[in-house]
Amino acid sequence: QKHVYSFGGKTADGNGKQKELLGGKGANLAEMCLIGIPVPPGFTITTEVCAAYYEAGKKIPEAAVPEIDAAVTKMEAVFGGKKFGDPADPLLVSVRSGAALSMPGMMNTILNLGLTDTSVEGLAKKTGNPRFAYDSFRRLIDMFGSTAMGCEHEDFEHEIHKLKEEKKVKLDTDLSADDLKELVKRYKAVYKKHVGEDFPNDPRKQLMLSINAVFNSWHGHKAVEYRRIERITGLKGTAVNVQAMVFGNMGESSGTGVAFTRDPNTGENVFYGDYLINAQGEDVVAGIRTPEPIAKLEEQMPKVYAQLVEIRQTLEKHFKDMQDIEFTVQDGVLYMLQTRNGKRTGTAAVKIAVDMVKEKLIDEATAVKRVNPDSLNHLLQPQLDPKSKIKPVAQGIAASPGGASGKIVLSAEAAVEHAAKHPGDPIMLVRKETSPEDVAGMHLARGILTSTGGKASHAAVVARGWGKPCVVGCEAVKIDEKAGVVVISGQTLKAGDFITINGTTGDVMIGKVETIAPSMTGDFSTLMTWADKSRKLKIRTNADSPADALKAREFGAEGIGLCRTEHMFFGEDRISAVREMILSTTEEGRKKALAKIEPYQKADFVGIFEAMDGFPVTIRLLDPPLHEFLPQKDNKAGAEAVAKQIGVTVEKIFERVEELHEMNPMMGFRGCRLPLVFPEIGDMQVRAIIEAAIEVKKKGKSVLPEIMIPLVGIVEELIILKKRAIAVAEEAMAKHGVKVEYQIGTMIELPRAALTADKIAEEAEFFSFGTNDLTQMTFGFSRDDIKGFMPTYLAHKILPVDPFQSIDVNGVGQLIEIGIQKGRKSRTEHHKQHLKVGICGEHGGDPDSVHFCHKVGMDYVSCSPFRVPIARLAAAQAAL
Ligand code: PEP
Ligand code: MG
Repeated sequence: QKHVYSFGGKTADGNGKQKELLGGKGANLAEMCLIGIPVPPGFTITTEVCAAYYEAGKKIPEAAVPEIDAAVTKMEAVFGGKKFGDPADPLLVSVRSGAALSMPGMMNTILNLGLTDTSVEGLAKKTGNPRFAYDSFRRLIDMFGSTAMGCEHEDFEHEIHKLKEEKKVKLDTDLSADDLKELVKRYKAVYKKHVGEDFPNDPRKQLMLSINAVFNSWHGHKAVEYRRIERITGLKGTAVNVQAMVFGNMGESSGTGVAFTRDPNTGENVFYGDYLINAQGEDVVAGIRTPEPIAKLEEQMPKVYAQLVEIRQTLEKHFKDMQDIEFTVQDGVLYMLQTRNGKRTGTAAVKIAVDMVKEKLIDEATAVKRVNPDSLNHLLQPQLDPKSKIKPVAQGIAASPGGASGKIVLSAEAAVEHAAKHPGDPIMLVRKETSPEDVAGMHLARGILTSTGGKASHAAVVARGWGKPCVVGCEAVKIDEKAGVVVISGQTLKAGDFITINGTTGDVMIGKVETIAPSMTGDFSTLMTWADKSRKLKIRTNADSPADALKAREFGAEGIGLCRTEHMFFGEDRISAVREMILSTTEEGRKKALAKIEPYQKADFVGIFEAMDGFPVTIRLLDPPLHEFLPQKDNKAGAEAVAKQIGVTVEKIFERVEELHEMNPMMGFRGCRLPLVFPEIGDMQVRAIIEAAIEVKKKGKSVLPEIMIPLVGIVEELIILKKRAIAVAEEAMAKHGVKVEYQIGTMIELPRAALTADKIAEEAEFFSFGTNDLTQMTFGFSRDDIKGFMPTYLAHKILPVDPFQSIDVNGVGQLIEIGIQKGRKSRTEHHKQHLKVGICGEHGGDPDSVHFCHKVGMDYVSCSPFRVPIARLAAAQAAL
């Protein structure tokens, strides 16, 4: 068994496919060497060694030790014969962790290993830069001490602060070589105090202890928490990467940078990133100095830039995906330190996938598989109306796409306050920068505008994660929080004034620009067409207005899976008739009120059938308990208004409210129980549906109404209601002399319905799983009352996910499978018919649940209009 894999000098023992064994970083370093990219030599100790280390009670296996020594010798040879820790001209190494999946920040890297009391002198002489040598040494003592030996980083920090005070300087960089030499002394004292022995002047000992430290970090608190949160399981451990150090801080011909092979925000095929001359990696990330855009490197180091551009192409051709790279230039020589698939916004993901197909790097199926369905949210953000005449007054960095207008708030607290007072009022958070304390306010804002910060600043990262428009680093924006004003290019705005940002271009506009709903065009639409080629599931939408239905069709919906008629009952023009119906105690009275509602219902259905133009439309009969339509018990003013409107006394209303009161309304007088007790309600709805269908058919359009009966748990319920519905439909068709095709089916949203699906399928022409209620009734969790305990359930891993968001495959999922299997079998046996099965609970728009629905053989999923594209993509991925 091999424990250690060397890389460097255009060869490598391992390769990019061995991520499980070598970790992501180690595998890609090996792969880069194999394709001839300059990488400082080194070696990877495998994840298996990590596992063995723990099995042996935290001991590096004997057999691995000579392999490590041999790999050090090999690294020395490849790196021009420099010796690790050589007193006169030391080769220094870095030690880094690297598991199969990236776990950012899991453990600190240890740099500059190999420096000792003597070799630091050698390094100073060899580089002619004693300041650099002693600075590297004191960093090593700090990193090695705190990472490998349990010292406190703060204790080292304390020493550097003290020294700066003594020397009366502000910045670390103001300390001289002699100061740093003194600091090394003091750091060593801190080290000795904590560890109880001297800092090891033996490079090999430093190395072995550092390897132990990386392995130990695998079970460190941070790493364990990270894996828990990200639900990472089944990994052997971390690999350890030991690599020759190269220095970007050796003068003006050195530097370091981070870059993406394409723009991770827009996906544009341009080289994107930052670099700093005479600096080390941390300097770019820490934001102490402002880095230069990568394109400028062409002027400063034309040769290096040309080489970098070539590497960019090589890497993309090879990995066939956008890469996130780190590089260092030492004395004019370029080295690549890392490459990995780059993180990107949804917009960029779509563009990159489509472009790469055009460039023949990948095929259509790969493109479809590559885009995370949830990331499409980013493309579904509102856009600024391109016809707007308002001109930009300033430009910042486009940090997160989409357009937003809102009233200026200057702090996160002000945002929270404003939102509490005026819920839904659009606000724009305008700040110098943001920090983690600001997230509540950031979340409430339509968009975020900052005057400082770059593409990786807090505001940018957080906004991108939420798919919220954001512009950062807009220096023309001067904020005076105390005075409550913002000055932009000479114009003064107060808190509360409207401002607009375009997170796609970085533009800032004064005033309000209308936003328009996103549409599906260009690359987005191309990707969707590819997705449609592979998916088996049909995608429908939950919609109860023609406007929603049209929006959903634009997004590719192939029908309506759930039209909740109760939403229509709340329409201003009919709510009083609905209340009149509920308040009357006789059938006569109810029928009179229902007659008033019927024309409205019919008109609603006509609108929806026309919008869906021949696609099937599932209309569900009234579902909620009737008290929902009346004013609440303590709402006297509401009751008075209703009383006046329909000419009854307030007492009468409260009497009825009292009568309808239920301890547990979700399990009460609702669903199919309503038309069973008050058949006239169901009659009116069925007649409205059929008459609407007749009217649309008469106009020469095709219609496919599906009448859906909710909350059935006993087949007898369905038998009675279906018989009655057929009678009403037949009567309406006879009256008009027109026949329309229609179906009668049911929701499966009670466990009993799923368990007796064979019986129910004898009557139902289709099933639609109402997984909101099915989840509620299966768990016994009221869907409206989970906030008290669900966070605890998730934190304690009692449940892996909120079952109202993603289908509980093990429990609710079984009921679904039983329901489908029994239902389909029975329908075939009794009617020689395929039973059409879909889902219309919120889960229909959740990618994981869509995978489940595909797996269990549903015919369609139905979700809200804006999730239709997400469901289309998820359905395709499930099929691929
Ligand atoms: C369901 O229960 O899943 C469903 C779609 O119906 P509603 O959410 O209206 O109860
Ligand atoms: Mg329901």
